[in-house]
Amino acid sequence: MNPFENALKQLDRVVKVKVFDENFITKLRLPEREIKVSIPVKMDDGNVKVFEGYRVQYSNARGPYKGGIRFHPDTEINEVRALAFWMALKCAVAGIPMGGGKGGVTVDPKKLSKTELEKLSRGFVKMLHLVIGPQKDVPAPDVNTTPEIMAWMSDEYEKLSGDKSGATFTGKSVERGGSEGRGVATGLGGFYAFDVLREKLKLPKKSTVVIQGMGNVGGNAGKIFNKNGHKVIAISDSKSGIYNKDGIDVNEVEEYKKANGSLAGFPNFKKISNAELLELSCDVLIPAALENQITKNNASKIKAKVILELANGPTTTEADDILFKRKIKVIPDILANSGGVIVSTFEWEQNLKGEHWSEKKVLDKLKKIIDRESINVWNTAKKNRTDMRRGAFIVALDRLEKSMK
Ligand code: NAD
Repeated sequence: MNPFENALKQLDRVVKVKVFDENFITKLRLPEREIKVSIPVKMDDGNVKVFEGYRVQYSNARGPYKGGIRFHPDTEINEVRALAFWMALKCAVAGIPMGGGKGGVTVDPKKLSKTELEKLSRGFVKMLHLVIGPQKDVPAPDVNTTPEIMAWMSDEYEKLSGDKSGATFTGKSVERGGSEGRGVATGLGGFYAFDVLREKLKLPKKSTVVIQGMGNVGGNAGKIFNKNGHKVIAISDSKSGIYNKDGIDVNEVEEYKKANGSLAGFPNFKKISNAELLELSCDVLIPAALENQITKNNASKIKAKVILELANGPTTTEADDILFKRKIKVIPDILANSGGVIVSTFEWEQNLKGEHWSEKKVLDKLKKIIDRESINVWNTAKKNRTDMRRGAFIVALDRLEKSMK
């Protein structure tokens, strides 16, 4: 499944519901610029290995290109292109002054030593430094890229450009100029979207939650849902999943994963596969791993009442049609996981102004945006008698079209 084809099919699905200027839509079907690089890394054994990397700069109509960098063995241009397209829409839904971009390197970072990983991160920046910068393109973390990797990249950019603002990379550690609240921002933003829409979605005050992907986003989301009185009943990583109808302490699972590298072997709870996990009966299903998880093959078997998409692109368009018919509501990725890029934008702003905001200030500002735009997307979907994905696209496309014009 080609994620970029899915992204364009989403666009086709929207223009059937609301008419947009044809020239605008034609322009939006292709990115403004794509860069492919080869990054040579001298490995610990003395041999040189060359890794392929990409940066797609999709649209800067609303501000500098903005989007994460992914390190994953399956990363390829169509995935990065789709993620960049979604970033352009996500920033527009949030109403933040950023365009859309994304980057990726085809690599399994778990197979690299720390030294090799640092060389790869710095090497990627060496190849890209002329086309990124605070007013050009502002990358951030994504799958398998950490605050430490962002700090290496930021440091490399500083050496090459002489720019000391730190505003080129977001998601840095606080000690390296990162923002308070960035680590939890994506999971927390997802929770805010769920919380402000909960009554409209007819969900109970104490909802049951299933999470696919126990990484930065899924792990934080799990802890936040538990803390707010909801019950996580299943969670997984790429290797294994666990289920307990009485609830799972996500902090405990996180400790276990840190010590053992994965959830596999977690004691006491029932072991389940990722496929089984997606089909569990629950109030909220949170895909928080990778693309193309809910497809035409399993959409008719989903038993969740609501899907909160914290991963990017977890649902295909065919699945969207099935879920819409089945009245299963989807809070779409470009709204649900926008907390990360919103706080990244706050980080960029703080770096440019030489300020450091308190966590309270950051999270209050985040909540205000997510609450406002979640209601906006809900109302737009209602007005157009459609699902929230198309509602969110309509909000974003309206704003993008105005900026382009
Ligand atoms: P991460 O690397 O921290 O975690 C990813 C998790 O997914 C890991 O636990 C991994 O084991 C698990 N995983 C991988 N393949 C899986 C599979 N097939 N089934 C189940 N689990 C699987 O990455 P992350 O930053 O948490 O990103 C997760 C998703 O959220 C991605 O789609 C990413 O694009 C999206 N996202 C991240 C941010 C952010 O701020 N990090 C912001 C917006 C969206």
